[in-house]
Amino acid sequence: MTDPPGATMEGMSGTWIELTEGVFARRYAELDLTVGLVLGAERALVIDTRGDTHQGSEWAAAVRDRTSAPITVALTHAHFDHCFGTAAFGPVRVLAHPGCAAAIARSADDQRAEWVARYRDRGDDATADALAASVPVPPEPAPPRLDLGGRVVLLRHLGRGHTDHDLVVDVPDADVVFAGDLVEEGAPPDLAEADVAAWPATLTALLELGRSIVVPGHGAPVGPEFVAQQRDRLQEVADLCARVQAGTLSAEEAARRSPYPGVPWP
Ligand SMILES: [Zn+2]
Repeated sequence: MTDPPGATMEGMSGTWIELTEGVFARRYAELDLTVGLVLGAERALVIDTRGDTHQGSEWAAAVRDRTSAPITVALTHAHFDHCFGTAAFGPVRVLAHPGCAAAIARSADDQRAEWVARYRDRGDDATADALAASVPVPPEPAPPRLDLGGRVVLLRHLGRGHTDHDLVVDVPDADVVFAGDLVEEGAPPDLAEADVAAWPATLTALLELGRSIVVPGHGAPVGPEFVAQQRDRLQEVADLCARVQAGTLSAEEAARRSPYPGVPWP
């Protein structure tokens, strides 16, 4: 595939971060997305597939530079930037929370239409065209445990939060957990589809895994203190929402007091 006009290698390709032996994050400028790769002796687990088939092809090639092992894909959730690139990985096993397949079936067309329009508004026709041509692969229900050969990963749903089906990929022997958009670094968490009342407890459950490195769905890997701070801010949002619902605080005042000013209110 030729590069679209205006695209640069910097814009298209990513930056590897080796977290520990055989466990990688890869960061992209586009939406500050962060995806993951976990290598075992027998197979490789790819965590999220980027936002369209063109982006997914770059990611799949980067994975192939690191390993020739058979690939399994785990999707953290159904938002297009995490799962519309799956087809580029070919006929592989694709795993997610059962709610992810339902959310893809329900929302893929709307997500595509919304974001194709956004990219066209920005003058990024190349990404708009790639997204318009991308169809997400329906995932199958993830087993709780996956043996990659000498390394076991745990696929966990810790509760509702960013969506109703967030899957976290826990790599106990590496002391790393991939949290998807339950954790966002560099930008406020996305509350648009969130269950804000449930999200803080889900992050407490994430902290109770005891991992030193938490890989967010966007931004740089963080530690538990960052997750705790985000949990506490989301609790403030949840408390404000509860007061609005109880009629003791106006929505305007709640938005003004929000720890995430300017983030669309749930
Ligand atoms: Zn998301």
